[in-house]
Amino acid sequence: FDRPHFMRVLVTGGSGLLGKAIEQVVKQEGGCLEGEQWTFLSSKEANLVVSEVSAHPCHPPGCQGGRTLSSHEGEPTLSGELHYLTTQFLSITRLYDFPEWIFNCSNQNMIVCVCVDFTDYRGYFAQHGRRYTAVIPTNVYGPYDNFNFENGHVLSALMHKTYAAKKEGTPLQVWGSGTPRRQFIYSLDVARLFLWVLREYDEIDPIILSVGEEEELPIKDAVEMIADALDFKGQIVFDTSKSDGQIKKTASNTKLRRYLPDFTFTPLSEGIKKTCDWFVHNYDIAR
Ligand code: GDP
Repeated sequence: FDRPHFMRVLVTGGSGLLGKAIEQVVKQEGGCLEGEQWTFLSSKEANLVVSEVSAHPCHPPGCQGGRTLSSHEGEPTLSGELHYLTTQFLSITRLYDFPEWIFNCSNQNMIVCVCVDFTDYRGYFAQHGRRYTAVIPTNVYGPYDNFNFENGHVLSALMHKTYAAKKEGTPLQVWGSGTPRRQFIYSLDVARLFLWVLREYDEIDPIILSVGEEEELPIKDAVEMIADALDFKGQIVFDTSKSDGQIKKTASNTKLRRYLPDFTFTPLSEGIKKTCDWFVHNYDIAR
């Protein structure tokens, strides 16, 4: 696969958890190479799910000869919408001749319902020399996540709940038994890996972005890290009337490690501390 020398990159979902992390890596960590142009669009500017979708992403500055990184924080229940979205995007990327497209399947369950058919992607490569692929991160957390009590991701919802419990002097209510295990990955790590995928990864097959299987840890351990980070000393209650969900979702990072044996993941306690600090300082704008 021949990458163009001069790159214009369009990031959709630019105001969300992953879009913001990519923006930080590009603008503050030297992730942008000389001559590159990066455009970040939020769903307000380009809502890829509504029907006039095809009118919007066609107009970022100079998308021809560029590449796109798509990030969408979907849940499995949105699979119909996401399937529509990927189909929409495929037609747009083909119409505007993007040489490269990376779709973010942010929930590994989704790969089953949304991106299962990579025949299209293979066809684009075989027929047009275009490399369209997907990344599959495990449970992502970090600044700009959804911190909503009811529908936030587990770590961010629990950070918000811990913050509120401390302020009000009430117990922290954790859903379920606390025993389900998850592999958490910090959004900035996903963003750094995204850039690597953009620049180096040549396969059409998707790649799992995850810490090792040995780092899958029980929710209750993560809760303790959050309590530490926010200096919460109150009671922690595990509400077993609430669902545990899947008991584990173990994903292998063998393929990633084959490519990047030395990549250093942010330790969970450090990522949690940084995210808690961000949340406390940005309480007014946090979702
Ligand atoms: P999510 O997509 O971030 O909700 O994460 P998963 O569905 O992979 O798993 C969340 C796990 O954390 C389940 O075992 C939940 O019961 C548990 N959990 C505990 N408290 C909360 C909470 O406040 N919000 C969420 N989303 N999950 C919680």
